[in-house]
Amino acid sequence: MQQSRGPTAYQKELFLTSVEEDWEVEDQERPLAEIVFNRPLDTIFHYLIPESLTESIQVGKRVLVPLGRGNHVAAGYCVGVHYAVPKRKLKPISKILDDQVLLRPEMLKLTRWMASYYLCSWGQALNAVLPAGVRNQAGVQKIKVLQACQTEESDILGLTTKQKRAFDILQQSSRPLTPAELKSSAQCGDSPLRALRQRGIIEAVEQPLYHKPTIHQDPENGQKNFDLTTDQRSGLKIILEALEQQRHQTILLHGVTGSGKTEVYIRAIQEVISYGRQAIVIVPEISLTPQTIQRFRERFSAVAVLHSHLSDKDRHQHWQQIAEGAVQVVVGARSAVFAPTPHLGIIVLDEEHETTFKQETTPRYHAREVAQQRTKLAEVPLILGSATPSLEAWQAASDKRYQLVSLPRRVMDLPMPVVQTLDMRQRVRERRGMHALSLALETAMQQSLENKGQVILLLNRRGYSTHIQCPRCGEPITCQRCDISLIHHKQRNAAICHYCDFETQPPEICPHCQFPGMRYQGIGTERLESEIRSKFPDVRSVRMDTDTMRSPGNYEKALTAFREGSARILLGTQMIAKGLDFPQVTLVGVINADTALHLPDFRASERTFQLVAQVAGRTGRGPLGGRVLVQTFSPDHPAIVAAASHDFIRFADQELTHRKEYGYPPYGNMARIIIRGTDETSVEAFAEKLAEDLACQDSSTAVNNWRVLGPAPCPIGRIQNHYRFHLQLQTSLSGSLQDYLREHLQSLRIPSNVDFQIDIDPLSML
Ligand code: ADP
Ligand code: ZN
Repeated sequence: MQQSRGPTAYQKELFLTSVEEDWEVEDQERPLAEIVFNRPLDTIFHYLIPESLTESIQVGKRVLVPLGRGNHVAAGYCVGVHYAVPKRKLKPISKILDDQVLLRPEMLKLTRWMASYYLCSWGQALNAVLPAGVRNQAGVQKIKVLQACQTEESDILGLTTKQKRAFDILQQSSRPLTPAELKSSAQCGDSPLRALRQRGIIEAVEQPLYHKPTIHQDPENGQKNFDLTTDQRSGLKIILEALEQQRHQTILLHGVTGSGKTEVYIRAIQEVISYGRQAIVIVPEISLTPQTIQRFRERFSAVAVLHSHLSDKDRHQHWQQIAEGAVQVVVGARSAVFAPTPHLGIIVLDEEHETTFKQETTPRYHAREVAQQRTKLAEVPLILGSATPSLEAWQAASDKRYQLVSLPRRVMDLPMPVVQTLDMRQRVRERRGMHALSLALETAMQQSLENKGQVILLLNRRGYSTHIQCPRCGEPITCQRCDISLIHHKQRNAAICHYCDFETQPPEICPHCQFPGMRYQGIGTERLESEIRSKFPDVRSVRMDTDTMRSPGNYEKALTAFREGSARILLGTQMIAKGLDFPQVTLVGVINADTALHLPDFRASERTFQLVAQVAGRTGRGPLGGRVLVQTFSPDHPAIVAAASHDFIRFADQELTHRKEYGYPPYGNMARIIIRGTDETSVEAFAEKLAEDLACQDSSTAVNNWRVLGPAPCPIGRIQNHYRFHLQLQTSLSGSLQDYLREHLQSLRIPSNVDFQIDIDPLSML
């Protein structure tokens, strides 16, 4: 049993808020720097600024300082500089790491807000803002340059003509010069420069050399300006008003799939750029497809695309270019919300409802909330776009905190596709054997393919068989480290845990009762693919899921094959459900609409509705029209009924009633606390105690609007040999949750073999 692990020591310190020590005037004032660290230490530390560094220290740079009893050197962020009389003996800063200020005042404000809202330290928030490539200055070469020193008349007496010439050029130059530049301007060799350096009137310093990335430079097709639809025009008008008045306004652009939301973003951004400002467009990683990027590149001249497979060096170079103002539009995933645009003019967050906007490690921020805060600070609009808005955003629009803009129709009068649900309770009996496709779906596919159409099939489960079980003793095969079933991947000939990547040989004999003949059940995308290949042997299909999309080029290859029509069936997990715009797609099939429906998560209905509505939106985008077939065992479920009729508002009304009843978001604020450890008894005991403490506070408060749910084992009770319990805190008062937790957890004593994480506005409940 692991007993003496370190991280809990940090956890304990997190809540020891000793932020500002008071400085008493008793001696001489000294220049002091306020430093924070990327550790769970909710404290601002003070250090002396030695004389040699007073010129170069600046707020927003990183420094090296001795930290803790061992005086280990640690990197920290300088968040303040002031003069004061040190009350006790302070250590000096050892070194300044950056030549350039990496964090502007607005980023310091933003991260301070993140720290207080998400209950992390300021340093942890700052660390999330700066990409690793920037922190380690990836790809930066240092070059030697020469500059003139401060001199008196007497210092330069007796210089030779060449020395004098070189010195004058350097002194008059607006920037330091490389030795080669100086030699060529002064028409001299090395020796005059050496002599000047020896006399100490010029000096050599190191300067970073940044390589310019290839930011795309010319719009490929500036002509593509359609006439906007009436809906698009009135939506754009509202955005332009906010832009003109230079005020912050969050606009929820609720537009059905294919209503031309992207076109509205583009027009708004064109306006922003005409003011000399920059735009940030945040999309889910899966939407960073060549198709989306292409649309922005066609219309803007300097577009930086930040996707997850950029090298550190490329990321750093993009960051530098953005910071210099050389980029008009930044398109990227979640962390693009921190792009260092010098004059931010607008943020667009597309597919606002997507869960990938939430970071699942510290700081557990949501890009929508951070974007909201950043645009507020910058006094510019934020546009949230979706065909299936999150209920949080929808409620904010109902409360008039956001302005609602609706695009209820598709462009060019295209109708929404007809959706038919197929009741699988009956259809599974239609034929023998295991089939992913019902007869109706198979026939519809044949028709579509015969009529020159293309087909998209969604199955939100990867692998071959999703369940391996012994038919005699009934024991399923689960991960050794996690409480979760192993998934059979046939091509890799392995049974794999999707949580910890544990991999083993697929068993032929039951490990519990030795029965020879395990049963492989449940259909994943790999198995669907092989069924499609045997049923449609002459038609090329492509599969898109995280298994086939491991290397960056694969995505583009698969989508190109589908766009060009060489592949006519596209099947995959939720990554095919969004954003794609292929007019030839005349059929969408949902293999199993119920995959998310029965998860122990209060958002299960919302997820199901979103997924079905989004994938349905991939068809009917061209002259051939389109239809959707949804296979489900719950055809009467309100989420499925609403998705089949493209009726977001009906879904939202039903679901909000339900949420209100239970005080779930958006009607209350929620925090989830996850308690983990290798010893189940300790984890459970601590979870019990924590719940008791928190609930106890509950009854003593005057306004009794707290609810503590749990503790209970998490739905996945063990991951990587760590037992997991969780509890939820709910309140109807915004903001008070954080204060309550911060205050309460300050005095908490945590056993050394247990740690816990706080997730504000949690999205994952597993
Ligand atoms: P959404 O993002 O709402 O699903 P898109 O922005 O992808 O919709 O638009 C769907 C398609 O319609 C795209 O191919 C786009 O180029 C086209 N489109 C957008 N606006 C117009 C318009 N006003 N007239 C004609 N086509 C348009
Ligand atoms: Zn596992």
